[in-house]
Amino acid sequence: MFEIEVKTSKKEEFIDITKKIKDIVYRSGIKRGLCVVFVPHTTCGLMVNENADPDVIRDISAMLKKIVPDHMDYQHREGNSPAHIKSTLIGSSEYFIIDGGSIVLGTWQGIFLAEFDGPRHRKVWVKIIGDS
Ligand code: ZN
Repeated sequence: MFEIEVKTSKKEEFIDITKKIKDIVYRSGIKRGLCVVFVPHTTCGLMVNENADPDVIRDISAMLKKIVPDHMDYQHREGNSPAHIKSTLIGSSEYFIIDGGSIVLGTWQGIFLAEFDGPRHRKVWVKIIGDS
């Protein structure tokens, strides 16, 4: 298993980690297989979406804020229930096909760590299975 660290700098932020994941797959020497990416946190998530037009990410962020209000009758004493809920909606893992020594993504797709309770140091775990 590989681990990368992502330092977030805002309360809510979407950080493109596509290159970091591609670098790990390249260094693994695996040519064909599967790559699982997982964040071991309860207030951030992993997401695949467009990394060409940053307005797409802004729109996703704005809609998540509408779906999950900052203030409600939340019971969780830590006060960060919106972050826990958004993390659950986004999910904490993604998996990718490796072919030709690289993960295969659609033309406009990128891999994002979605921070909902930053700034923090986040871990991303990567497991690669396949043939070299
Ligand atoms: Zn909490």
